[in-house]
Amino acid sequence: MNMETSRRDFLKTAAWVAAAPVVGRAAVGATSNAQQAHAPGRGVYPYLGRTADYREWSVVPRGLVITKVETFRRNMLALVRVTASDGSVGWGQVAPYEANITVDVLHQMVARRVLGKDIADIDAINDAVIDANMKWPWSMVCRALSGVDTAVWDLYGRLLNKPVAELLGGTVRPLVAYGSSMRRDISLADEAARMARLKDEMGYRAFKLRLGTPTGHNRDAAPGRSEAIIPAVRKAVGDDVELFADANSCYTPDVAIEIGRRLEDANYAMYEEPCPYWELEWTREVTEALKIEVSGGEQDNDMAQWRRMIAMGAGDIVQPDICYVGGLTRAWRVAKMAEAAGIVTKPHAANVSLVTVFTMHMLAALPKGGEGEFSIEADAGITKEARAMFEPALEVKDGKAVMPDGPGWGIRVREEWIQQAERKVTEK
Ligand SMILES: [Mg+2]
Repeated sequence: MNMETSRRDFLKTAAWVAAAPVVGRAAVGATSNAQQAHAPGRGVYPYLGRTADYREWSVVPRGLVITKVETFRRNMLALVRVTASDGSVGWGQVAPYEANITVDVLHQMVARRVLGKDIADIDAINDAVIDANMKWPWSMVCRALSGVDTAVWDLYGRLLNKPVAELLGGTVRPLVAYGSSMRRDISLADEAARMARLKDEMGYRAFKLRLGTPTGHNRDAAPGRSEAIIPAVRKAVGDDVELFADANSCYTPDVAIEIGRRLEDANYAMYEEPCPYWELEWTREVTEALKIEVSGGEQDNDMAQWRRMIAMGAGDIVQPDICYVGGLTRAWRVAKMAEAAGIVTKPHAANVSLVTVFTMHMLAALPKGGEGEFSIEADAGITKEARAMFEPALEVKDGKAVMPDGPGWGIRVREEWIQQAERKVTEK
């Protein structure tokens, strides 16, 4: 048994322990009633991603309720403003893309479930939305819920005059970032050259490139592209840079393992989503066959699925996306499940909208948080929209992402953007 195998066996054992139902555990904190209420008859079980030692958030005193939920949408981005009964507000964001549909889901299926709820009960607010939408599980509901959850966290920060990172137990600080390519239509030479340039200009010490095609059934973006780009980028950036590769659900296990060996030969450090993400057994097979760390989970928003993935060893690194998974509260639960199993969380954040801000605050507080993802697509439409939506614009200096400072998320929404956005409101 080599060291790698024995480490993974340990993780598996630890994950099973973390995931096992805990019967008869002593009540934890003032929120144990809610947990007890979830238990089927006796004791506590890890409902919706709670680890055995999970403490429900109790950030602000009880007494303020949510009175209004507003959305502001322009193109693929939508902000959420939550107002509390004392008039204070917090800003959040739903998941980008198809934001018009997400906004409708938010008002029809989420907002009326949270109006009148005490803002202090963030765990209960999240769970009530999931429970109420049992016939419409996960994706769109979670994309919408993320807007409310992140707005309530901003509200906490504004009420207490503290950054969210501090509320989570961390500090605002520069965070090591990796430059993330979103492109497969770029030539090998251009991809290699721009990463080498960004290494010099912005001090990046890690990059991620793209392999195959999304859910591509083993097809490549161009014949031989993936095999060629792996060594080409390594040669261009040198040996002192960490490299990751993302296959976006492309491969069957046999092809994934063959490509993975090429990544190992070129000393890559992470292999993301090699197989269709729902094929957990395939991802486990690839994880077990390779030494390189396999990662995934950006689309996953079902907490029981997360528990299974971690417990069965379908990957070495978890990558929840705060806006896909349902918000910071639920992403934190995933990170805690991972932590209990000794697994690093490297959240997915593939654009410079507020998802990257939320992610920085979480990473600043996670004991087992990896590098932050930072899109290098300066010319992408979503980058321009995000830059118009809030300030300060996100940037990387000396290889580190600069965290906005100030209460809540530390950002200011631009008035011009709000003026041009489509507004919808649900209120009491
Ligand atoms: Mg990915």
